[in-house]
Amino acid sequence: MDQPDQPPARPDPAAMFANPAAIDSNAGDFRSVLYTVDRDGRRKWIYAHIVQGAWRRWRQWVSVLLIGFYLALPFLTVGGRPFLRFDLPKRQFWIAGQVFWPQDFNYFLLLFLIGVIATLLAVALLGRVYCGWLCPHNVFLEMVFRPIERLVQGDAFTRARKDREGRGGAGRALTFALFVLVSGALANTATALFVGTEAFAWGLVVDPVAHPAAAVFFAFAFVLILFNFSWFREQTCTIVCPYGRLQSVMLDPHSLVVGYDQRRGEPRGRLRTTGGDCIDCKLCVAVCPTGIDIRNGNQLECIHCSGCIDACDAVMTKLGKPAGLVRYTSEIELAGGRRLRIRPRTVIYALVATALIGVASWRILHREDIVATMLRPSSMPVFADNGGVQMVRQPVSFSLVNKTASEHRLTPSLPAHPDARIYLQQPVVVVPPNQRVELTPTIDLPAAAFGPGDLRTTLLFVREDGQRLELPVLLRRP
Ligand code: SF4
Ligand code: SF4
Repeated sequence: MDQPDQPPARPDPAAMFANPAAIDSNAGDFRSVLYTVDRDGRRKWIYAHIVQGAWRRWRQWVSVLLIGFYLALPFLTVGGRPFLRFDLPKRQFWIAGQVFWPQDFNYFLLLFLIGVIATLLAVALLGRVYCGWLCPHNVFLEMVFRPIERLVQGDAFTRARKDREGRGGAGRALTFALFVLVSGALANTATALFVGTEAFAWGLVVDPVAHPAAAVFFAFAFVLILFNFSWFREQTCTIVCPYGRLQSVMLDPHSLVVGYDQRRGEPRGRLRTTGGDCIDCKLCVAVCPTGIDIRNGNQLECIHCSGCIDACDAVMTKLGKPAGLVRYTSEIELAGGRRLRIRPRTVIYALVATALIGVASWRILHREDIVATMLRPSSMPVFADNGGVQMVRQPVSFSLVNKTASEHRLTPSLPAHPDARIYLQQPVVVVPPNQRVELTPTIDLPAAAFGPGDLRTTLLFVREDGQRLELPVLLRRP
């Protein structure tokens, strides 16, 4: 009797490193098959080797700076004001000590456009430098979480063997405990960017009673970070990240990529029996955090982390051959051509980015110090008698946003109607620095000032230093 089909055996990771030929370099199908998913749709776990080399040392320095900057961000101030803070309840967004309000959305739009163009320029020139060197996902995964794993459980070969044999439970538990601690620290920093460090006892524990929304955010960020770094890992780059998916349209043959020099390396073969420099040791595949074989050519999964460059350079050095069989290069250079740094698209991107930066700088430098906005009135106008003169009485609601670091005092008036009266608790409106105040004065205006319908006029605020701020208002007729 026929036996039911058995699922194909999963690759044996331990055997993989013991026998380089067993490393699946997905050579036949690499354009259409995701390396980390097997034919049954199951996840293939990547045991990435860590090879120390010149590029990794540079990345470590960059990562130390980035991680230090990220952890310090909630504590950084400019002139006593937060360097970066997203204060949602107060609707204040602090960037480099400057406060922005929802009314400043146009600045964020400009910043977003600058970011898009700068990204296009950076990719056209430097390829996926952001992914491999600057992206928080890869910085933390490659420089914090994976090294912790290696420190506790041993190198990739040992971990693969223990997993295969079902051993190493204690090591995995300790690793997970350390991941929990690190994820908690990262989630703390993310939460502090929204609520400030004041919400944390000893900078560590958010008070859930005083800051319930922050506690929910912390829990969400913590679970997401822990899930991402302990399990999801390279799938963030290969499946989720839209930036990664757009690489194919942003790169061109002159862009910097990590490439394998096929003309030098092929025909590949073990121990230099076939003429090419590649000895098919597959160390470049074993170190790859996304599991691809760079010798197949440029691929969407490649985050340009330079791990395979360090790995192959170490092999070439041992063989007494020049480094650079795998290197930072461009497709045009690999094909024997010359790489052009200045080309039409880079010039256009640079011009557009410069123009946008110019516009944004000009707008920020000429930003209004105080912004007045009309609000919906809370009640309807009525007629009132004032010494025999019929008046129209109505509340007018408006907000004043002070975007400066100093307090301002403003005196309101209706210059077009000297006989109007504005009733406020204080004749002068005080707006504290970086704050927003809402006011609803009552305005009395002779009914004769109205025509057959409503009246459009201007509310004038004169600042203590003489600066004038005009706010168009619509006064309704009862
Ligand atoms: S590390 Fe270098 S020599 Fe080894 S397989 Fe990769 S390209 Fe070939
Ligand atoms: S192919 Fe090389 S550069 Fe690309 S992700 Fe893998 S190790 Fe990094």
